[in-house]
Amino acid sequence: MEKKFKKIEIHNCHTHTFLYEDVPSKFLPLRLIRVLARRGWSIARFLNKIDLTTDGDVYDRYANFIRIMKCPTQEQTFEYLTRFYPKNARFVILAMDMQFMGAGNVGRDYTKQLDELSELKKKYPDRVYPFIGVDPRRANIEDLVKEYIEDHNFCGIKLYPPLGYFPYDSTLMPIYHYAQSHGIPIIAHSSKSGPIYCRFKRKELISKIKSELDPSTGIQPRFDGKSRKELCNYFTHPKNYKVLLNKFEGLKVCLAHFGGASQWQKFLNPSTIGVCEKMKKKEYKNIDTDEDWFSIIYDMLKEYKSLYTDISFTLNNRDYFPLLKVLLSNAKVREQILFGSDFFMGEVETSERSFGIDLHGILGTDDFELISQTNPRLFLRNCLRKPKASK
Ligand SMILES: [Zn+2]
Repeated sequence: MEKKFKKIEIHNCHTHTFLYEDVPSKFLPLRLIRVLARRGWSIARFLNKIDLTTDGDVYDRYANFIRIMKCPTQEQTFEYLTRFYPKNARFVILAMDMQFMGAGNVGRDYTKQLDELSELKKKYPDRVYPFIGVDPRRANIEDLVKEYIEDHNFCGIKLYPPLGYFPYDSTLMPIYHYAQSHGIPIIAHSSKSGPIYCRFKRKELISKIKSELDPSTGIQPRFDGKSRKELCNYFTHPKNYKVLLNKFEGLKVCLAHFGGASQWQKFLNPSTIGVCEKMKKKEYKNIDTDEDWFSIIYDMLKEYKSLYTDISFTLNNRDYFPLLKVLLSNAKVREQILFGSDFFMGEVETSERSFGIDLHGILGTDDFELISQTNPRLFLRNCLRKPKASK
């Protein structure tokens, strides 16, 4: 019998092309990268040569990351990325606004980053889908969002709450209303304790959390002994999005990274501390006071059908492939999981090529088609129509 082969139109729903000029001056570890980028290739070569015998490969990976940061334009970074995909692949590119995280000024105006993406969209209208990074502390953010979506064909909105704001900040409400009524998708960073977070003083962070955390989320914050990075998890917490999803019915939101690798690990290997005591009191349901974000997002996917998640960065760890495979056989959530690589952040863990090929190989063509073509077409539906209609 003749075998039929499918040609998948891959949608990578999570990539970045921002340059080192877009990163604040005092931001470590990327400050180091700024220095390295200035020194350029010689340092990258030096890193390549370091061999700690156990894991020399890590240095190769960082050298790769630095080389990409060194690219002078986002177009070059994008063209490098496309080498690892078929010609018909599509890419969501997420802009980053890191001006207000308390780590110094960025090297160029944010609109320069956006304008470059807008040029890229013009050049590759069917392949590039830029999302505007939104921060409620930027002046006239609502106007900026509308301008780039309406005049420059941006596809959606990117949120990065660990930079120091709650997603339900009152300034952002008109933007969600706009997104809801136009079917504009939103991608929100949802990984616990990532390296990019607000550098304000602890005191300032605590007072912001105390005054702004919405009690309807059910989150009860604890501050003792928590680092700034841990405090910023309150901004990023997936339950914050219940406020938005309850208020704006049908709002299309993707909680990127599915909680992050640490939370997949926690879900797969739950702690037994306090289990017997709680069982005795028949409190089994509340057994985990510090619930893992994987489970929270999983439950939310079942509750809100306009909610999505992506597997970017988190699935760099091949140990999690079986759990992903199981999720994709689960009818309750399988249509809400999106393929994304987190290029070029992912370069520090694995290459773009092996990320995509390993996933495709392990999942098989049907499941890979589901997350990279079928589901993204629904999530990006309103943008994907745009280029065709304008012809
Ligand atoms: Zn990302």
